Formats: sequence, structure tokens, C-alpha cells
Amino acid sequence: MGSLETMRAMVLDGPGRPLREARLPIPGPGPGQTLIRVRACGVCRTDLHLLDGEVALTDPPRVLGHQIVGEVVAGDRPGQGPAGGLVGVPWLGWTCGVCEYCTSGRENLCPRARFTGKDIDGGMAEYTLADARYCFGLPAGLEPIQAAPLLCAGLIGYRALRMCGDAQTLGLYGFGAAAHILAQVAVWQGRRVFAFTRAGDEAAQRFALDLGAVWAGASEDAPPEQLQASILFAPVGDLVPGALRATAPGGTVVCGGIHMSDIPSFPYELLWHERSLRSVANLTRRDGVELLELAPQVPVRSTVTRYELAEAGRALEDLRAGAFTGAAVIVP
Ligand SMILES: [Zn+2]
Ligand SMILES: [Zn+2]
Repeated sequence: MGSLETMRAMVLDGPGRPLREARLPIPGPGPGQTLIRVRACGVCRTDLHLLDGEVALTDPPRVLGHQIVGEVVAGDRPGQGPAGGLVGVPWLGWTCGVCEYCTSGRENLCPRARFTGKDIDGGMAEYTLADARYCFGLPAGLEPIQAAPLLCAGLIGYRALRMCGDAQTLGLYGFGAAAHILAQVAVWQGRRVFAFTRAGDEAAQRFALDLGAVWAGASEDAPPEQLQASILFAPVGDLVPGALRATAPGGTVVCGGIHMSDIPSFPYELLWHERSLRSVANLTRRDGVELLELAPQVPVRSTVTRYELAEAGRALEDLRAGAFTGAAVIVP
């Protein structure tokens, strides 16, 4: 592929700036890299945090997008999952491989980790380059727009679900892309799901009930019974005390986002009785392999709103406004 060939990409010049459509050279794969023609790229709340400067962007201008599905056109095959079909590129783009985290199954915490669409150009483009060792071969039969939301919303959600242990009653705060995938997995596992949405968001509450939740209500509401675990996908620290209040003794509240507004102070009795409050950061490749094997068994069906590449900025503002249910996916 000649270096004179170019591609369309959506780049971010810095916090507070609108996404800009650009023509960039199609990158050539170096050793261990995969050149992928992008078929679909999911939109994530982390992209909004990058846009707003709540999560720092490395060396802009940067191509956003870290839920990438496409075809290998040059370079190495993906390091994980089945070979031969579509490939997926997740948020975790590179780790050092030698630190205490990388060598103890916690590469998600590697202090030198590099992330797709933040430290490395991502998938809001016609082509993208990835380190093959961090890419996943995808199960046969999965459509690109169906697979894309699994790669962050699904994966980090799945890691958060693992932190909930065998909780049989599970609260999900913020019923967006991640929760709508997780609810399907949790119901399939035999758990009872309680969905919390913005007050008055009846569309999201109906959506949650349609996906098998046993109860749906406002985030400020008390659920009809105590929950053994909850995951907060809404980046709203004010929800934490209420989530702890809804949690049974010994239960866990997991904060699933990369950024959250400040958590207000709360009485110790909300934490007392061995309740845990914790966060989940990023993903390991093991999380990815597990979820991508499990998703076709459920089977997970993502509810997707589709956008053209040039509409990426609008997709992000629609996400901010809660203008769609489920996940937004860009199709270049
Ligand atoms: Zn490391
Ligand atoms: Zn994400």
C-alpha cells in the first residue's frame, strides 16, 4: 500500500474542540502490527470525557474510537481469539509486559499502558493500525455493528460484573450501552437485574424491562429489595451513597467509568457491615477472550444507532443528551 494513499478520519485537536474530518495517510504496518479496514467503531462515554478534557488526550491531534471492528488488510493476524474472520480492537492497546501488574494477570493496571483512541490513533477512520497482540479475532457470524459495542461497553462491563462475584440481585445505574449488554449477560446467568435510570426516562426503563430486568426506576429510588451488588455506569458521584444504601451487608458497589464527578461524603454506616466500594479500570485480554466467547451463547443483541463517519461529533452529542437507547456505532 503506497504512502500516497489517504483515508478519511475524525480527529480531536484538543479538549473543547469539535471533532474535525481530516485526510490522513493510510499508515503502513510495522513489525507486529495489523492494518485494519474499519467496518464499525463504537462510540463510548470515554470519548466524551476526552472531548471535554476530563480524561487527558496524548499528543493531539488524535483519531478517537476504541471499539473497532474490521478486516485485516496487511500485517499480523490478531493475537487472541479465532482466526480467519473479522478482528476487534479494544481500549487496551499496549502494555509493557514486564511490570508487576503485567506479570500478575493485571495488565489493565500497567502504569505504562497505552490506550486506543487516546494514546494511539483509534477507529473513527477508514483504516487503523493496531498491535496485533492486543487484537481479538471475532466469533464467526457476528455483524460488525453488533460486535463493536462489545469491545468496550461489553468488555469493561463484563470486568465490572466479575467484581460482583455471584451476586444474585444486581443493580445497574445508568442504562446505556454497557448496561444494556450486561443486563443480557446477567439475566442469562440467572441473576435478577434492577435498572436505575435518570428520573422520568421511561424509554430507558421500558428498554431495561424488555431486556429482562425485574425492576426499573429512577436512580434516586430505593429498589424493592436490597441488592447484593451494583455497578455504576453513570459518571455521577452523587449516586454512590444511594447505591451503598441499596446494597445488602457484604455487598459490593462497583464504579465502572473512567471518570466520575466527586462523591459526596456519607455516613460510615452506609459502608459498615462489610460493604465494598471499588472501581474497575480498563480490561485485560483475558476479559476480552471470555466475553467474546460468552456473547454468542447468550446471545447478546446490541441495540444500535448507526452514524456515518462524518457524523461522529453528532453521535457524541447525542450520547451526552441521552438521545438514543443502547449503543451508537459509526460505520465509515
Ligand atoms: Zn506493565
Ligand atoms: Zn470505552
